[in-house]
Amino acid sequence: MVTKLKRCYVCKKYTMKSECCGSVTKSAHPPKFTLLEKLKQAR
Ligand SMILES: [Zn+2]
Repeated sequence: MVTKLKRCYVCKKYTMKSECCGSVTKSAHPPKFTLLEKLKQAR
């Protein structure tokens, strides 16, 4: 499941946009966390 989902911490909604509510959105899933998940699943 590939998602480029981001989250706006201003209105607390998930969005695909890089900006929301006049501020930059942050990734819903931290890169390091997803990477560890992949490594765990690989083994
Ligand atoms: Zn927003």
